Amino acid sequence: MKFTFPKSPKPDSVSDSDWNNWTWQLRQSLKTQSDFEKVFTLTDNERVAFSKGKELFNIRTTPYYASLAGDDPQDSIRQILMPQRFEFEDGLQQMLDPLGERKNNPAPRVIHRYSDRVLFLVTDICSVYCRFCTRKHFTGQEQAFIRNDEYEQALSYIRSHPGIREVILSGGDPLTISDAQLDRVLGDLRSIDHVEIIRIGTRMPVVCPMRVTDELVAILRKHKPVFLMSHFNHPNELTAEAAAALEKFVDNGVPVMNQMVLLNGINNHPAIVQALNRRLVYLRVKPYYMFQCDPSQGTDHLRTSVEDSLEIQKELWGHLSGLAMPNLSVDIPNGGGKTYLVPNFQVAQEGLVRKYVGWDGVQAEYVSPAAKDIKKPDASRYLAEWESLKAAKS
Ligand SMILES: *Cc1c(COP(=O)(O)O)cnc(C)c1O
Ligand code: SF4
Repeated sequence: MKFTFPKSPKPDSVSDSDWNNWTWQLRQSLKTQSDFEKVFTLTDNERVAFSKGKELFNIRTTPYYASLAGDDPQDSIRQILMPQRFEFEDGLQQMLDPLGERKNNPAPRVIHRYSDRVLFLVTDICSVYCRFCTRKHFTGQEQAFIRNDEYEQALSYIRSHPGIREVILSGGDPLTISDAQLDRVLGDLRSIDHVEIIRIGTRMPVVCPMRVTDELVAILRKHKPVFLMSHFNHPNELTAEAAAALEKFVDNGVPVMNQMVLLNGINNHPAIVQALNRRLVYLRVKPYYMFQCDPSQGTDHLRTSVEDSLEIQKELWGHLSGLAMPNLSVDIPNGGGKTYLVPNFQVAQEGLVRKYVGWDGVQAEYVSPAAKDIKKPDASRYLAEWESLKAAKS
């Protein structure tokens, strides 16, 4: 069965050329309670959250993304963009910086946790402030592109650490910056000899797909290899506009990977997860991570349990092509880094014999060769490269 992707429900009062213009979408963002009331009938829970102002976290959505949310308070997209009273309640583990990013912050806007790759937070602005955001300590605070002196310090950190092989542009949302700024950032990174891969982590294909213009993809192609990391959480986000944006990247040689987060009452159902990921693969997007929601402040009502996530993964395993299966992962708080959650398929082990049970209950033994029979190939050609990678953080 082929999939169809419906067009977004543009209001009649807006012209096609405005609706399909990304700067119009950003200029016309909904930010205040009265902006939201023009589109939604607010519930008491939602109104209370607006009355607390932006105390905890900014509020913003593009008209496009708002148009995908229904007027039902339980609608999945509505729950992603709409503040709720629960954000201001005490949480189980409320952390403003759940990933301990501030202690892995050797230069302004640079987060260096793994030896070979860094995050580079070029802006703190997003076009939608997702209520589950992990980086509330940073996102939407200054409302600006990186200052020039900080930009130079960040670049010089990357330049002076030859072990850094990959730079992940993040934020905020790096595709909220202009083409000219993006071209400059990518060009500066490309001029550093040891930077092999550049990734761009963005929600713009989801919340403002009109950002993906021919000019934008030409810039990404010019600075190849650039990987685009999208962040679709629900199949309802896959409109005709979003599908066209994803295909534009791939057609122009920009591989796209998707990272999703499991959210309570929003997408934590195997039918929804498979629907999203099979459609993404059909659009040539590789599902990459499926995250457990981080214990960011004000997100308890959006977090699922680890048991629930494992159950979803277990149901999908075996029924969903490996191409469509994302890796379930939890980011260990306080800068522990990511860890995969995997079902335990091994049920017994005796000496060299391990016993496994497959996804549909088939049991069998796998006899492993003995340690004394294991030999290593000559790796001398690649050893220096490997050692430099491991030493990269020092
Ligand atoms: C997630 C993350 C990365 C990228 O990890 P991958 O597993 O390579 O996708 C890099 N740095 C930090 C600090 C991260 O949180
Ligand atoms: S787009 Fe990303 S950084 Fe911005 S609010 Fe959403 S989750 Fe946070």
